[in-house]
Formats: sequence, structure tokens, C-alpha cells
Amino acid sequence: MRILLTNDDGINAPGLYVLEKIAAQLSDDIWICAPSEEQSGAGHSLTLTRPVRLRRHAERRFSVTGTPTDAVTMALRKVLPEPPDLILSGVNRGANLGDDVTYSGTVAAAIEGALAGIRSIALSQVYSKEGMADEVPFGAAEAWGARVLRPLLDTPFAERTLVNVNFPPLAADRVQGIRVVRQGFHDYARGSVVEGTDPRGYRYYWFGLHGIEHTPGNASDLEAIADGFVSVTPLQLDLTHEASLAQLAGRYAS
Ligand code: MN
Repeated sequence: MRILLTNDDGINAPGLYVLEKIAAQLSDDIWICAPSEEQSGAGHSLTLTRPVRLRRHAERRFSVTGTPTDAVTMALRKVLPEPPDLILSGVNRGANLGDDVTYSGTVAAAIEGALAGIRSIALSQVYSKEGMADEVPFGAAEAWGARVLRPLLDTPFAERTLVNVNFPPLAADRVQGIRVVRQGFHDYARGSVVEGTDPRGYRYYWFGLHGIEHTPGNASDLEAIADGFVSVTPLQLDLTHEASLAQLAGRYAS
């Protein structure tokens, strides 16, 4: 089984090394193609206004000076000799839960894989304390990763669907188990906007992500993580709201 690894935290991110350890339990045919720099929050963006560079760091280890979507595109079109059987994206430093999945570069890399018809899974390690940066503990992801992935390897995925996995912010032996749950929603409050003045005296604004609340319940990914479980959520790329189709069509009927 050939596995492509990617992420949105960049080729040197600690979570990518954790993902390598997880993938090594599943196969020895591992390829890596990841953004050269952190691309968190890039969503499903594609670089169109400048060229991208492909760098080879080792026989099967590459970086792309672009977004996670660029990295997957390059891997599929220019790097791998044949398409992979599986794409794993992560392990992201921080949660990709609820409506945050559309901001996520980690999830977007898996979206790109799903669009290409390849089984694709995004993995993220939730952490609870602010300001931890590279100190984020990946223990839960490392211990539970292969265990969560194995059933997903021989389960049929519907077309244009992917699976989003989040690991709770707990030591591995305190994780309660695995729950398959729906995508939840945060209460709408888009984090914090930090205001400051740069060294030249100009005002700047910087978006923060912490302190976004959610209403518990609804058997969602947010609830599973709050209860100490690994969340496993199938996502679909058809964003059409079926129930509104006929109603909206009626508004244009003459
Ligand atoms: Mn990230």
C-alpha cells in the first residue's frame, strides 16, 4: 500500500514526524510531499498568482512552496510514479472540528485527495493550553493513530468523501475510545482579533483562534472531543443543501 503524507504545518512540523511513525505501522511505501512553510488556515486554496517550487529533501520526501492543495496536486502530478492508495494529512497541531474544517489546510489536503478519487484522511491533535506552539503533545495521536486508521483502510469510501479524525487533548492512556460522529458547529464568534502597533508605528490586526465556544450535544465531533474520545467524521464535498433545491427552484419558476 502506497501512502502519501502531507500536512498544513509544513515539512518540518513535529506532527508530520508523528504521522510518519503512524504510517510506518501500516506500510513501508511512504511518500511525503508537504508545504515548505506553515499553511494553517489556508483552506482549499490553490496558488495561482506565482510559480511554486518543488524541493527534494530525500528519495521520497518533497516540499512545495505553496499550499496543502498545491502539495497534493504536485505529489499526484509530478512526484509519485503512480497514484497512492491512501493520503494522510496531518497530524495537525491543533483541532479541526466543527465548521473550522473549511478553514483548515489539513482537511483541504484530504479534500484534494478525495476529489482525485483517492482514499483520504485528515488527522489533528487537539491541545488545550495556549502558547504551546511546538510543545503540543502528540501522545494521543501517536498511540491511537494506527488503531483509528486500520478500519478505515478496507472500508469503502463513497465518492468525494473523506474522513476527518481529531485526537483529544489527553494523555494516551486517558483517551476514552473512538466515536464516529457528525460535524458540529461552533457558536458564531470568530475567535479574537488582536490589535497592535508594529515597530514602524503602523496598526496591525492578528486573528486568534482560542476561546471559540460551542454548545455541547448533537453527537458532534466537538462533543466527542469534550468527552475525551477520538472523533471520526465522514465529510462530503457536495455542499448542496438538498432540502432547499426545490424551494429555491420554485422562486424562479414562471
Ligand atoms: Mn495547521
